Amino acid sequence: MSGDFKDPREPGPALRVKALEELLSAKGIIDPAALDVLVDTYETKVGPHIGARVTARAWVDRDFRQRLLEDGAQAIGEMGFGGMQGEDLMFLPNEPGVHNMIVCTLCSCYPWAVLGLPPTWYKSAPYRSRAVSDPRGVLREFGVDLGNDVEVRVWDSTAELRYVVLPERPAGTEGWSQDRLAAIVTRDALIGTGLIRAPDGAGAPAP
Ligand code: FE
Repeated sequence: MSGDFKDPREPGPALRVKALEELLSAKGIIDPAALDVLVDTYETKVGPHIGARVTARAWVDRDFRQRLLEDGAQAIGEMGFGGMQGEDLMFLPNEPGVHNMIVCTLCSCYPWAVLGLPPTWYKSAPYRSRAVSDPRGVLREFGVDLGNDVEVRVWDSTAELRYVVLPERPAGTEGWSQDRLAAIVTRDALIGTGLIRAPDGAGAPAP
């Protein structure tokens, strides 16, 4: 649940963006067609399904996981994925006793290369402040109730360094294919505001 972090849609910023876009294209500073390609890429092609595939591979391929933790941008490049801004990408492995979550307290820096566009709540002032001041409270509102024995680490993203959570592989998924594993990885788990649970009957063989 993320209701408390949703901002009502305001027409003001959207209108300002539109006006700015028209002005810049009238002056020949931007090409509207190029802008459309960029927006389309991040709205329809790049999204959490990429982070899910990277995660699934890291779960089954130890060497890949090691490379991913050493240099995230390079490792996702092996799979044909990459950022457009050349920023560093650091994967933060969740482990027994350690839960990571990401935020950008300053604005809305987000690992676009593997998650696409950020959800509205990620950019909201309440999430940006409370993720730091009350991370356990925020997690509870997302339905994630961690015991006091689990350390919560909050990572503040910047334009140069974007973080992604590498969730723990849930029990009951032994022997699953990468495709099947990728299908249970959620966006929120990659932000750290969700946990991944194997569906009921997870131990059953693939259909
Ligand atoms: Fe930011």
